[in-house]
Amino acid sequence: MSLTALSACDLLAKLDASEVTSAEVTGAFLDRIEAHDGRIGAFLRVDAEAALAQAAAIDQKRKAGNPVGRLGGLPVAVKDLLATEGEVTTCGSRILENFRPPYNATVIEKIRAADGVILGKTNMDEFAMGGSTENSAYQLTRNPWDTTRIPGGSSGGAAAAVAAGMAPLSVGSDTGGSIRAPAGWCGITGLKPTYGRVSRYGLVAFASSLDQIGPLAQTVPDTALLLEVLAGHDPKDSTSVNLPVPRYAETVNQPLKGLRLGIVPEHFGEGLDGEVEKAVREAVAVYESLGATVREVSMPHSKYTVATYYIIAPCEASSNLARYDGVHYGYRTDVKQVAADLEAERKKYEDAGDAAAVENLDSVLVRMYRKTRSEGFGPEVKRRIMLGTYALSAGYYNAYYLKALKVRRLIRQDFDRAFQQVDVIAGPVTPTAAYPIGDKVDDPLAMYLCDLYTATTNLAGIAALSIPCGFSSEGLPIGLHLQAPPFEEERLLRGAAMFQRATDWHLKRPDLGGE
Ligand code: GLN
Repeated sequence: MSLTALSACDLLAKLDASEVTSAEVTGAFLDRIEAHDGRIGAFLRVDAEAALAQAAAIDQKRKAGNPVGRLGGLPVAVKDLLATEGEVTTCGSRILENFRPPYNATVIEKIRAADGVILGKTNMDEFAMGGSTENSAYQLTRNPWDTTRIPGGSSGGAAAAVAAGMAPLSVGSDTGGSIRAPAGWCGITGLKPTYGRVSRYGLVAFASSLDQIGPLAQTVPDTALLLEVLAGHDPKDSTSVNLPVPRYAETVNQPLKGLRLGIVPEHFGEGLDGEVEKAVREAVAVYESLGATVREVSMPHSKYTVATYYIIAPCEASSNLARYDGVHYGYRTDVKQVAADLEAERKKYEDAGDAAAVENLDSVLVRMYRKTRSEGFGPEVKRRIMLGTYALSAGYYNAYYLKALKVRRLIRQDFDRAFQQVDVIAGPVTPTAAYPIGDKVDDPLAMYLCDLYTATTNLAGIAALSIPCGFSSEGLPIGLHLQAPPFEEERLLRGAAMFQRATDWHLKRPDLGGE
């Protein structure tokens, strides 16, 4: 079996036993990227030289008998919204085209400290706004199971990289489903940790009360391993919580005895594809066969999820994105051209004797801001900034933003009530399997509706993951969504691993040809 087909845990065992070197493992993944990423488009940038140098240093350390970190030389791909010191970090946007952060995100530091080898930066929807990775300013990413289809988003590159065997592990972010939806659509495992579990220092902010960083991998134990590395309190992120990090990788294979599984009737209603429903119900039956009890728990406010999320997230985004003004970061329009245009306009009005129009001309600075932002942001980002600015403006704030916050609280209370009766909630990740590229680009609302099941997790600040639970008749992966109370990632991982020990959906790999 080739190295790139092995799980991260199996590779780590080989590395620890000195059966392979990190340089060999890293080289194997780099070769696979070279062979297949031209077609898949998962990576925006790959730094083979830096990765091989890092791998060689780890091999040296191991050879000398020095202790190696938790990741022991395993390669990791990272979403391009995590700051990497001195390395281009675009967040999928033109406005950050040449942006080189002066520092590393905390999770990047943690991966390096754990001896993870960073392969490169993965493609994403611009500023993580989107569900298909079609909103990237740079390239399309294709689903490795069917290259005419979307991989999901916004962490589409991170998910496709793992699904295509181009990285054993990757790091994504999830604001309304951006780890779990692409994991589901690409047939891999992806976990959104509890709000506060992982430091977001150095994560380019989208919606700060919702954003979380999390792991994607082939299997649940692989996911547990990477979460253990990523998690933990960070004084540089005041929203990270000061709680000890459980040894997820050690406990992941302990089954949950007497598991009480909840299913939400509201999640099996309108819009849910029949094949997805069937696969999810069969997965629930697998849990029953493993001794779990299943009961329905109602989430009466879940029908407001999409409406609530698409008020709160754009409001926060409009505020977070105000910093891209052509002065502080990244792209700036040609200021000389702006000044020349202004002079030409002034002259035109002066010649026409229109003093009022001359008086009303904006300054070079204001025009520079406007032009920089018009040129630097793509259409979806502009749409969100407009939605958010509108909903936050005087007169609408109470009607939209404040109301959305109140509904958000009700959604959280639905979960609190449900988790008094059940340990884990199971359901579909997305309403359908991966759709064709281009299918929803002209219909933002149709795209937004795909977040129906995932965004509740972020609104409530709880933990959730996606694991493969079947395939559609067209051979596309289907994901099972599991949600757990805040800071119960260990329960989530143990519950998910039970399912993977009883099934083999997670072992199926797409055929990329040329093997
Ligand atoms: N699809 C959702 C959106 O477009 C979620 C994105 C995310 O989680 N970053 O906002």
